[in-house]
Amino acid sequence: MITLGIESTAHTLSIGIEENGKILSNVIDMYNGGNEGLIPRKLADHHAAVFASVLSKSLEIAGTTIKDVDLIAFSQGPGIGSPLSVGVSGAKFLALIHDKKIIGVNHPYAHVKISEHCCNMEQPLVLYLSGGNSQLLIEENGYYDVLGETLDIGIGNLFDNFARSLKLEHAHGAALAKLAEGGEYVELPYTVKGMNLVFSGLLTSAEKHISKHSKKDLAFSLMETSFAMTCEVTERALFLTKKKNLLVCGGVAQNRRLQEMLKIMCKEDDVIFGVAPDEYNRDNGAMIAYAGSLLYKKYGAMPIENCIPITNYRIDRMKEILD
Ligand code: MG
Repeated sequence: MITLGIESTAHTLSIGIEENGKILSNVIDMYNGGNEGLIPRKLADHHAAVFASVLSKSLEIAGTTIKDVDLIAFSQGPGIGSPLSVGVSGAKFLALIHDKKIIGVNHPYAHVKISEHCCNMEQPLVLYLSGGNSQLLIEENGYYDVLGETLDIGIGNLFDNFARSLKLEHAHGAALAKLAEGGEYVELPYTVKGMNLVFSGLLTSAEKHISKHSKKDLAFSLMETSFAMTCEVTERALFLTKKKNLLVCGGVAQNRRLQEMLKIMCKEDDVIFGVAPDEYNRDNGAMIAYAGSLLYKKYGAMPIENCIPITNYRIDRMKEILD
């Protein structure tokens, strides 16, 4: 069975193709908005403009044609309404015009499933860190429960916001991480509540320090503090669940300093650490194709009238949406 997956929840339009667990292609086109942040209308315009070329490139790399595709999977949320709608409309158009089966996929679920697949892990404790999300997840009877999460902004959002405050040319976590290299620690507020995280006070405090410390030291300290907070809640969840595997996934999982801190913690606690290649922690269509094929086996195709964007689609709502 060949599945084509479409990702469009935020800055990235990506189309990937999967056949029986093997990724055949994964074409990724990310919108670069410089320092202005994610303006929904501009993201939607970008996705609409590149959709056709990303699709044909993905089919070409996979060595297949749309005729041979059995299932169209699309990222259904959570995400920003305007760009999300472009992907959902594209998926419905392809399904209807080529008479294909279609299925909506929860975006975090796709990150988790492709990472479990890459790391060969079953039912690990999952730390999902992206722009909009920061969650500790555990699987029970095929569904994911949220053990702990951010109570305000996602950790990636914290980095993007601070990069904008520093007026970095590319207001993105990766640019902030590069700046942070070799920085010195400045004390910033550290807020953990049980297994939950709070980042907005940390952001405000770091912004207030901009005139007093170097950009490098503040970038370093913001990242160290937020990663230490994340490690603390993750370790608490490991002890509570008695899990012996930890999987980190999502855009922020690409950060090498975070990976290093989690690896040290896992080694001390005798826990196996897993992280997928960067390609699958970025927003990508291959993970949507892969997760779509898993969901199709369990639930069958989705009625076309249910194929609508769900901007606040939490992973713990999958049972309610799919059953
Ligand atoms: Mg993502």
